[in-house]
Amino acid sequence: MNAENRHIAILGAGESGVGAAILAKKQGWNVFVSDFGKIKEEFKLQLDERGFEWEEGQHDEERILKADLVIKSPGIPDKAPLIKKLREQGTKLVSEIEFAGYYLKAKTICITGSNGKTTTTMLTHHILKKAGINVGLAGNVGSSLAKQVAEENFDWYVIELSSFQLDDMFDFRADIAILTNITPDHLDRYNYEMQNYVNSKFRILQNQTENDWFIYNFDDPIIKAEMEKKSILAKKAPFSLTTEVEIGGYANKQQLTININDQFTMSIHDLALKGKHNTQNSLASGIASRILEIRKDVVRESLEDFVNVEHRLEFVAKIHGIEFINDSKATNVNSTWFALESMEKPTIWIVGGVDKGNDYMELIDLVKEKVKAIICLGTDNAKLLETFAGVVDTIVEAGSAMEAVAYGYRLASSDEVVLLSPACASFDLFDNYEDRGNKFKEAVRSL
Ligand code: ADP
Repeated sequence: MNAENRHIAILGAGESGVGAAILAKKQGWNVFVSDFGKIKEEFKLQLDERGFEWEEGQHDEERILKADLVIKSPGIPDKAPLIKKLREQGTKLVSEIEFAGYYLKAKTICITGSNGKTTTTMLTHHILKKAGINVGLAGNVGSSLAKQVAEENFDWYVIELSSFQLDDMFDFRADIAILTNITPDHLDRYNYEMQNYVNSKFRILQNQTENDWFIYNFDDPIIKAEMEKKSILAKKAPFSLTTEVEIGGYANKQQLTININDQFTMSIHDLALKGKHNTQNSLASGIASRILEIRKDVVRESLEDFVNVEHRLEFVAKIHGIEFINDSKATNVNSTWFALESMEKPTIWIVGGVDKGNDYMELIDLVKEKVKAIICLGTDNAKLLETFAGVVDTIVEAGSAMEAVAYGYRLASSDEVVLLSPACASFDLFDNYEDRGNKFKEAVRSL
């Protein structure tokens, strides 16, 4: 893209904004960085070190409205007044990933879905790395793609993409696209229209040709229905827990099979990541690796020795026979469904926080089967209390991670589990899900 005498405005000075600034400058753009909030010290430092012009706590609208191209942080909603104005006057607005794509020479594996993105991204990256491929990690995890395009020389990238990033992507093309699943999430940003959110996720397929691959969850009814409406050029590699697909991968209670470039099999019991949802993630990553023709023994070994990402069904400690598990990243009902589904012992369930329009009825059967007591950890627990009163004998409310863990310890007996899997965002009582998970772990360790 020609940058000569052209101006770029970058909205949001976090990891992606600063990365975009670095790449834009390298490519010859005149760069201005603007953040309506406060910029973190580490990013200010990076901007100053490289002599960027930047502002915080405001947007210099006059200047931004004159830019030839605007890069927008995925955190900024479409209803922000400046975004509206830019759209009205027809300014091109793109995400950092889209911008990085203009200058990207490497090949990409792009991963989206409502749940399992980070796990699948990290696992895929782990396999490629072990196979000796010169591979970078980008998107929501790792450092910004734009920055890496400016400063690194990778042959492949594994990129985690949220629906918000996809919304501002137009020309970007994934060599391999992975869609883990689609369940309601973030509907507040999509006018409470599920179809808008589905459309956003399917943007992962845009620009793909018959030389590219689409790896997707064959068991997901929403994906299935949407695929019937679309003509998809890419080669399809579905994964399933119920159907023995011809090209792609599947698993039953014993064995995982991948039929891509010959057949690959391994025992389910050897997978590092436990639970059905993680078998799906292992299948998706395994398929991508076999498309790249990574040796079977390397794929097998990587799927066996991967260390799970923090805050995702993370084992914390066993105290007097009580197991404590941190699944703080479960911020919607579907991820909590999988957490409860994978519990094999009576469970004391810590749930609650900021509800994004949750339908807890989907959990009722699992709760009846697995949950012995509920600890609500949020400022407003009314919906939880209403849904589960009468389903579980004991429901209590806690105002902090410390209090929740103390309740858990009191309510659980030896050989039972205390599971933090909130199904909600964390912002009422915590800074973010990491803070919630860390406070939970600290509380457990200080028991
Ligand atoms: P994302 O990046 O999409 O938020 P993560 O890999 O961080 O996904 O996992 C988020 C939560 O969802 C965790 O609680 C995790 O245990 C659960 N989870 C992981 N993979 C899946 C999946 N394939 N389906 C449903 N839930 C999943």
